[in-house]
Amino acid sequence: MGGEMGTANSREGGLTFVLAFPDVYEIGMSHLGLQVLYGVLKGVPWIMPERVYAPWPDLEESLRGQGKPLVTLEMGTPLAEADIVGFTLQYELSYTNILNMLDLSAIPLLAAERGEGYPLILGGGPCAYNPEPLSDFFDAFLIGDGEDAVLEIAECVRAWKEEGLPKRALLERLAGIEGVYVPSFFEVGYQPDGRIERVVPLREGYQSVRRRFVGDLETALYPTSPVVPFLKTVHDRVSVEISRGCTRGCRFCQAGYIYRPVRERSPERVLEIVEEALQNTGYDEVSLLSLSTGDYGCLTPLLKGLMDRYAAQKKAVSLPSMRVGSLSPEMAEEIRRVRKTGFTLAPEAGSERLRSVINKGISEEALLENARAVYSNGWRLIKLYFMIGLPTETMEDVDGIVEISREVKRQGKLSGSGGDVNVSVSSFVPKPHTPFQWEPQISEAEIVDKQRHLRGELKKKKLIMKWQDASLSGLEGVFARGDRRLSRLLIEAHRLGCRFDGWWEHFDRLKWVEAFEKSGIDASFYLRRRELDEPLPWDHIDCGVAKEFFLAEREAALGGAATPDCREGTCTGCGVCDFDTVKLRLHEPVPFDTYACEVPPAEASDLARRIRIRFEKVGRMRFLSHLEMLTLFTRAVGRSDIPIRYSQGYHPHPKFSFATALSVGIVSYAEYMDFEVESGYGAQQLQDALNQTLPEGVRVLEAEEIPLRAPALSVLMDQVRYRVTLPEELAADLQAKVDAFLALDSSPLKREKKGKAIEFDLRHEMGELKADGRVLEMVVGRGKPVEFTSAILGVPVEALKDARLEKLEVIFKG
Ligand code: SF4
Repeated sequence: MGGEMGTANSREGGLTFVLAFPDVYEIGMSHLGLQVLYGVLKGVPWIMPERVYAPWPDLEESLRGQGKPLVTLEMGTPLAEADIVGFTLQYELSYTNILNMLDLSAIPLLAAERGEGYPLILGGGPCAYNPEPLSDFFDAFLIGDGEDAVLEIAECVRAWKEEGLPKRALLERLAGIEGVYVPSFFEVGYQPDGRIERVVPLREGYQSVRRRFVGDLETALYPTSPVVPFLKTVHDRVSVEISRGCTRGCRFCQAGYIYRPVRERSPERVLEIVEEALQNTGYDEVSLLSLSTGDYGCLTPLLKGLMDRYAAQKKAVSLPSMRVGSLSPEMAEEIRRVRKTGFTLAPEAGSERLRSVINKGISEEALLENARAVYSNGWRLIKLYFMIGLPTETMEDVDGIVEISREVKRQGKLSGSGGDVNVSVSSFVPKPHTPFQWEPQISEAEIVDKQRHLRGELKKKKLIMKWQDASLSGLEGVFARGDRRLSRLLIEAHRLGCRFDGWWEHFDRLKWVEAFEKSGIDASFYLRRRELDEPLPWDHIDCGVAKEFFLAEREAALGGAATPDCREGTCTGCGVCDFDTVKLRLHEPVPFDTYACEVPPAEASDLARRIRIRFEKVGRMRFLSHLEMLTLFTRAVGRSDIPIRYSQGYHPHPKFSFATALSVGIVSYAEYMDFEVESGYGAQQLQDALNQTLPEGVRVLEAEEIPLRAPALSVLMDQVRYRVTLPEELAADLQAKVDAFLALDSSPLKREKKGKAIEFDLRHEMGELKADGRVLEMVVGRGKPVEFTSAILGVPVEALKDARLEKLEVIFKG
């Protein structure tokens, strides 16, 4: 529904840059990259940034049923009317959603079929490092860091628009921007056996496209006023990227190569960002993000600084990715000061031999020692991540997963505190721009066999295993190393109705089998071993790491040789740094207490005040549920300096309460809440402070102090006055229907609430009722306005979906 805090929705004109996420809102809103780019675009006066997410199937059905296009959340702009639509490419299994979003916008799928006048369709993100399966659908891709490049692209489109030149001229100019790949400027030739023969550049000097780098994160823009969703998203917190890149060199991990080199933000800058972002959003949790958070040089001092500042306010700090061996006793101590969820360790392979192959040189001893430390420090659950199907894997390696998981669980017992283990097993998918890009992917049948074996063995040891559907891994593998011919497959799959393929409840294997057959694509051709001298579909995309380095790493893998992490001091020559602007940026370790500060817990006085407010809920805010209103006010209080009182306990909540839960869709001018604040804080102050921070559509209309022990609102409420404005077709003979209803002795209603049958008499609950034109006004006790209206009109509740419902007044007892 849009309208979230932090959105840009008040400007007009200029350049419309739509950031499109080809998955559902809850996932897309948790994606940091999109928030960063949104923040960058929001800072430019002539750009109107807007967002769109893949519509869930029910919304798609509704849009198609009404012949309506997919529109942005901010201004309701149909995508076809935007200047730029930039898709984030996070995951291969979201590709059909991209086609669906274009289709729902009446934008021709194939770039070659889009004439002048359509928006520039742009792609970026990790999957853009092999954009070939999507190259027929996109005008251009951005390879690498986006902070600076999106602005250059936007500027380029703006100038082109002003000059009124043809699209070809725009593509020519875009190709001149570092990091921008225009696929139509390359032609691919194939050998008779289907392998690529050559990739021919069609534009002089445009042989390959080098990835774009942001040299120093310290000066890069960071959104400290991100968009704050109303509903609960996957990551519902402030996320701060403390560093980008990882040079550990795990040979299966694409992110480890395409985000190199390591660039850390200084702890001072991180502290600054956290402070601003918590203040601006009202969140009570911050997450420190990077590919391997435990490697951040100043992590412990930073954690201490954050804990000192926020523990008293019960704001939590979370660290999503910790490496085996990176949990120092000091760090464990700091993390213990906040909430503990499960601790994740990722040995990735079950044997030391295979861990050497993938360059994840963790000894079993170190892993177990870590597990012991984790359990001893109070964690009850360790999540272990493994992969099956890695190059050179044998059944001995697979069985190693069972053994090591059992041993990790035993460490819980040894530590004296006990503990559990969850085992997650994914299937290895060879990715482009890694030393394993030439390796074969194991077949679906082999994945299924190994999963079944593991499940059985782990069950014997009372261990729970999670795994991914083998068909999904197969499909991911086809697209990960796919080429341009896969556009046929995507078009076919989309036509057959494939959507949300990464969601097991939507993935339809049979449709995909049909799509492969109809498009004449053989999946095994894409999952096979690639010859070392074979041109690869992504060879003209230069991620910065040299192909020779990947080849050498592959050799080292097969020999089980380790490659050290260059952050320890020695460059291993991957080729990504120019050692001028692009280089490792690490921060010197500082003493543990460098950022320590004493923040005494705020003293709650014995004296409190209770303030009752009346507020309105109008416009699109009427679609917020009761739970979302609760979050809305919690965040609003968090953003303000209201001295609200908190409940006791480990998860303290601000002390406020609603009178009742309002049904979704009803406009209200009479919502009531009680707040408990420190004494000395006045009703008018509370009203002003809330109105400064609440979103448009929720406004405090009045506030008054009430006695601390005054009865709860729900006890005081007697009746509610509603106005129902009916659509023309339902308003015929309204007065007669009102009279007939009033003449009834009773009008019984039965409904279910939480499995319990509720019965009451609508006629008995009706206080006043009158009709005026197509408007009904009623004063009622128990019951919903739609239930009364449905009884008065003699139509089902569903027939009232176009009626406008307004809550005008609450009548209190006495
Ligand atoms: S070029 Fe050297 S220092 Fe830079 S990321 Fe590669 S290995 Fe590390």
